[in-house]
Amino acid sequence: MVQATPERIPEKQKKHLTTPTILRILFYWLHRKLTGKTTMLLKLGVDISKLHRPIRKILNHIENIYQQHNEEPVITSTYEGTHSPSSLHYCHDAVDVRNPTTNRDEIYKELEQKLGKDYDVVQERRHIHIEYDPKG
Ligand SMILES: [Zn+2]
Repeated sequence: MVQATPERIPEKQKKHLTTPTILRILFYWLHRKLTGKTTMLLKLGVDISKLHRPIRKILNHIENIYQQHNEEPVITSTYEGTHSPSSLHYCHDAVDVRNPTTNRDEIYKELEQKLGKDYDVVQERRHIHIEYDPKG
């Protein structure tokens, strides 16, 4: 069993409570209060309207996991941009989400766990690629 030492906890909390983080949390809270809608952001030109249901329905999970780490989820690509010819991006079964600035490995692991085996979660250099690819 791993025990948190008293020194570790305050340091971690300190790291999370920077002014931008507090502002971000306030922004999310306010946005939710006002709109009741997802705060998932889209990079300019990205269109999520064509995404198929299996990938669309997990946007919520991506949003929740990012926000639990005080990170802003930004979809950077769906079918736009350049992907390999056989990419599921062109079948509207994949999204790219900008890499979080912190807790990258944890967020990646949580996504993998939450989405299960029918989804592939791939860490790329600048984003996390997520596709719906059901296994037999
Ligand atoms: Zn991708």
